[in-house]
Amino acid sequence: STDHMQKLEKVKGFHDSFIGLPSNDSAAAHLRELVKEPHISGSPEDLAAAHYVMQKFREYGIKTHMTSYDVLLSYPLKRELHMLAPVEFSPLLRESVKEEVPQSRSPKEVDTFLAYSKSGDVTGDVVYANYGRTEDFDELALLGVNVSGAIVIARYGEIFRGDKVKNSADRGAIGCLIYSDPEEYAANMTEGAYPNAEWLPPAGVQRGSAYTGVGDPLTPTWPSTAGAERVPPSAYAHQLPAIPCLPLSWQDAVPILENLGGAPRPPTWHGALNLSSFALGRGPARVHLKLEMNNSVATIHNVVGVIEGAAEPDRYVMLGNHRDAWVYGAADPNSGTAALLEVARGYGSLLAAGWRPRRTILLLNWDAEEYGLIGSTEWVEDNADMLRHRGVAYFNVDSAVMRGGFFAAASPQLDDLVRDVTKVVPEPDHPGKTIFDVWNGTEIQRLGGGGTDFAAMLQHVGVAATDSGMGQDYAVYHSVYDNYDWMTRFGDPGFHKHVACAQFWGLLGLNVADADVLPFDFRSYASELEKYGGQVDEALSENGAPPSVSSAPIYNAVALFQRTADSVHSTPEALSGDLSRLGPGAGQRQRVLNDRLMLTERAFLEGEGLRGRPWYKHLVYGPPRDNNYGTLAFPGIQDAVADAKKAGGTDESWAVVQHEIYRVARAIVRASKVLQGSL
Ligand code: GLU
Ligand code: ZN
Ligand code: ZN
Repeated sequence: STDHMQKLEKVKGFHDSFIGLPSNDSAAAHLRELVKEPHISGSPEDLAAAHYVMQKFREYGIKTHMTSYDVLLSYPLKRELHMLAPVEFSPLLRESVKEEVPQSRSPKEVDTFLAYSKSGDVTGDVVYANYGRTEDFDELALLGVNVSGAIVIARYGEIFRGDKVKNSADRGAIGCLIYSDPEEYAANMTEGAYPNAEWLPPAGVQRGSAYTGVGDPLTPTWPSTAGAERVPPSAYAHQLPAIPCLPLSWQDAVPILENLGGAPRPPTWHGALNLSSFALGRGPARVHLKLEMNNSVATIHNVVGVIEGAAEPDRYVMLGNHRDAWVYGAADPNSGTAALLEVARGYGSLLAAGWRPRRTILLLNWDAEEYGLIGSTEWVEDNADMLRHRGVAYFNVDSAVMRGGFFAAASPQLDDLVRDVTKVVPEPDHPGKTIFDVWNGTEIQRLGGGGTDFAAMLQHVGVAATDSGMGQDYAVYHSVYDNYDWMTRFGDPGFHKHVACAQFWGLLGLNVADADVLPFDFRSYASELEKYGGQVDEALSENGAPPSVSSAPIYNAVALFQRTADSVHSTPEALSGDLSRLGPGAGQRQRVLNDRLMLTERAFLEGEGLRGRPWYKHLVYGPPRDNNYGTLAFPGIQDAVADAKKAGGTDESWAVVQHEIYRVARAIVRASKVLQGSL
């Protein structure tokens, strides 16, 4: 009908006009305000930044409230590190003197530290452990280097830092130092460093959390509201560092690294420092590390903006970003916050022009991400059943601007949506081209489980998600040099990447919020599942599984899922478009179809979660046990295969693998039924 055509035209008009709304000047103004002071979680400055976000959302016409939680945070009180032998040396443990940095430095910059380090006083010989990965420690053992009773020095990179500390402690180390090597953080020292180049200077230090769990350690699976039950330390101690740990600049690390003797390092372990020798230790470098931490409960604040849906107010399309920063956080995370505010300003303009989203849009600004995804996780735990029933999708942006071009990771049913949106967003570094033209659009990554705020949405309650930004990784990450000056001179001089991020992110939200039929396509999920099935077979044969262990249940389940996805999407039910022509009940049928599309992701979850990691409920995607930053497909199966190998391939250990295969297969069958919508 013409009514319907007019309505479609109008919605399309709103979406088309959105792309012109985010502005580089406005993004720059937000960023300048957000990063004018250090704003670590729990500080008054972080609360002030929350008020800025809330005030802007409201100014843009968006109903906004704050939700607060009391959670375990961590700050340094005293830090001492001295090399006692073979020569004495006292590291600076400070990033730089004021004159070196154009941005005026605040006395509120937190000292360099690793959150939740154990307080303690240890003295020991030093061992170099490369990246501190499981395989690095295995190699050290092969080379006959004893880590027990030693202080490990590892370099940043490859895996989550908390896992470096955990690996060290698990092998008996009594302390752990992590430094930034110029191989990863200064382009092998060939291009200079900040303030002359984008790279980390010799005194630069990456702060960060060493907590390997997710959410407030004191309230596992439930929200940290005032007066909530708190568990005793014995319940969470295994997720906090068991030893004192501290990050170092390479300037501070060199004298320690140069005074290691013993076996030479494998060539790939050298890094880019110009050392007089490359040895593993242990010793003769001997250091004394003394740390006093304040690990205590503080209040954190999420900001929640709500644009109520006109037709389906009980369906949530969510955009989220964290606000807390280790220091100034110009890239991590407030380039993302500035982009979120530009999305909000754009949505506000559409609202003023008469647009109402079909579904409810939530704009979420998280706190305490840096400590362990705490703000987002507590909120998800607080609203778990609402989100299980109502959560359509969650679009995360942490740092909007890093180094390099566009990146996206997504739940597979969102692949086409992500690609379609990149086809209309101008690529900021390539005039006349779209993001899609420049980005290799086939390279959509998969979401693991840790690293940033999509984790609780996807892993804990099964809401389909994306994570994206302009670039991945950058050298001054978590240092004082991630500041406004760095952003204006190196990260995004014209703020056009901020704009591109806001355009992409805002359009993702609009496309899902206003769609008649949700733009989810499960055929890409099916082909991913098929690929993971092949990986299971490889893992079984590589690890010598007995022939009785069969992956057939997965193959059968995937085949069913494939057929279902094909039938649902290749002959889509005629439920898009003008419902008035589809007869009575068409609106209801459309809602039923959309619920099938929304709830299929949920079916991949299982209440008891992954073996030994019950908070992680998704059976298709999760992080490896020894790298919170990584992504594993069918993590329960992969864990069980690794355990079987470790156990020497006992019948019991292979029986566990078979059980995990059945669990995954059952989840895929459940998801097929939900997608098909039949019993
Ligand atoms: N994004 C933060 C980091 O990389 C927190 C990650 C986490 O705790 O999973 O340090
Ligand atoms: Zn971040
Ligand atoms: Zn961070």
